[in-house]
Amino acid sequence: MRVIAIDGPAGSGKSTVARAVADRLGLEYLDTGAMYRSVAFTVLSAAGDPDDLEFAAIAARAMELSLNDDRVVVNGIDATLQIRGPEVTRAVSAVAANPMVRREMVSRQREWIERRGGGVLEGRDIGTVVFPEAELKVYLTADANVRAQRRAKEVTDLDYQTVAEDLSRRDTVDSTRDVAPLTEADDAIIIDTSMLTIEEVVTRIVELLSSGDAKR
Ligand code: C5P
Repeated sequence: MRVIAIDGPAGSGKSTVARAVADRLGLEYLDTGAMYRSVAFTVLSAAGDPDDLEFAAIAARAMELSLNDDRVVVNGIDATLQIRGPEVTRAVSAVAANPMVRREMVSRQREWIERRGGGVLEGRDIGTVVFPEAELKVYLTADANVRAQRRAKEVTDLDYQTVAEDLSRRDTVDSTRDVAPLTEADDAIIIDTSMLTIEEVVTRIVELLSSGDAKR
């Protein structure tokens, strides 16, 4: 089974790179951040508190989610745009720090891999928790300013300062939480994307896979 794990902080280029690597290799791609965002969306839609552990856990378990062709349908509602919006972005790290929510999402992610016989997964804990036996684990990083600039270009309704502060807050919460904090796996290959184009990063990953420098 061919599994490629791509982890790293927001704005490191994970989504674009993971998608392109999946295309090159003819594999399917899973954006696990969209899953946590969808849980946050479910909680907010039900007027719940993202910090309420039980509420978020029940919402996560009951959530019907379909991620297809970049369309995110949550409990029958097309939430493709809302899950990237400021409310969900503010709430997502709290929901993702909830161990019961993580248990549910990790189990869905493993099921996704089993059903497809492999794939490219991007997130924060793919190489460390979800699939430590992945053929290749990549940890993408980039300078905090570069990451904030990239994110600010994607979201048109927020200024650079707001985006930079939000990113830094999420980095802190994601890296310091008790369960599955954002960190590189011991055997992950670290790529700093600050000065690289997407194409250069993708090529490097594909080369690693074909040269056998990947773990197995
Ligand atoms: O990748 P993205 O920025 O969309 O992820 C949104 C949030 O989901 C992250 O800030 C993090 O809190 C959470 N997340 C996570 N584990 C993953 C993927 C995302 O905790 N595997």
